[in-house]
Amino acid sequence: MAVTMEKANIDWKNLGFGYYKTDVRFVSDFKDGKWDEGHLTADENIVLNESAGVLQYAQTCFEGMKAYTTVDGHVVVFRPDLNAQRMYETALRLEMPPYPVEKFVKAVEQVVKANLKYVPPYGTGATLYLRPFMFGSAPVMGVKPSTEYQFRIFASPVGPYFKGGAKPITLKVSDFDRAAPRGTGHVKAGLNYAMSLHAIVSAHKEGYDENLYPDAKTRTKVEETGGANFFFVTGDNKVITPKSDSILPSITRRSLMYVAKEYLGLETEEREIMLEELKDFSECGLCGTAAVISPVGKIVDHGKEICFPSGMEEMGPVSKKLYETLTGIQFGKIKAPDGWIRVIE
Ligand SMILES: *Cc1c(COP(=O)(O)O)cnc(C)c1O
Repeated sequence: MAVTMEKANIDWKNLGFGYYKTDVRFVSDFKDGKWDEGHLTADENIVLNESAGVLQYAQTCFEGMKAYTTVDGHVVVFRPDLNAQRMYETALRLEMPPYPVEKFVKAVEQVVKANLKYVPPYGTGATLYLRPFMFGSAPVMGVKPSTEYQFRIFASPVGPYFKGGAKPITLKVSDFDRAAPRGTGHVKAGLNYAMSLHAIVSAHKEGYDENLYPDAKTRTKVEETGGANFFFVTGDNKVITPKSDSILPSITRRSLMYVAKEYLGLETEEREIMLEELKDFSECGLCGTAAVISPVGKIVDHGKEICFPSGMEEMGPVSKKLYETLTGIQFGKIKAPDGWIRVIE
């Protein structure tokens, strides 16, 4: 049993999903061809040269993960090695020096340990969001990779993504593209988000919650939304997810597919999914660290409405089971597969 420690004076149940400054963050610098040891700091501000690579050519990438208080009072992190590995691959694609996987996981542990009073108590629905990121810090003028970088991890307590239960959302099949074939859609680069802002703001103005991006080449296949992967449930209870080289490999999605097969005994498949097929599915959900699952009730494809049988009131039954099982694993109520849970305290 972990020692009880004094918690920050926060109204956990009414926390939103936003930046909240905590005490300590991790910083490591890359200079003269190597990463330094790194250290914890109280300083949340960064002073940069005006011509830093990140400011001029958006040389930056990030990760997102969470620390939880489990039902028996431990503080844990969910699969941090997968975030570390994904950021490693993102860095290579952006010509940034990858941050070593084991050092990444150790730094995550340090940041959580140093901010224990901000890890929301069990039962509040809130969690401690962790944001590792890296950026080019040396001045550049011509287009080339920076020679110096900074890697950081900060923590911010976040409330339950959906207050009062997850209401199904409505998506628009976007006229914008998120990821080019052979582009950067499969890596967590800041640039993918900068260029998605116009599409999401436009969709919101038209009354939609999110965009469904079809594949950029043929615009006939489902890829993902701006920040979450898809899964669908077929009429015969199979859980399927789109296969494409330009989708970001969501850790939540990979975990849910495993849970579907190994915990719920459902058939699963990763394959190309056509927009044409959407009308045949019984459930649709978005998955990502922030919300785990957001149920989708309706998708609008240029005036054509696709309404899933699960409706606009609640999550469909299979999505609900997936959600309960995965969050059960994260909060220590259900036994996790080996290696999924990193105990901090
Ligand atoms: C981060 C992200 C996701 C979700 O990934 P998780 O590892 O499950 O949080 C999905 N799509 C995009 C584009 C993302 O950037």
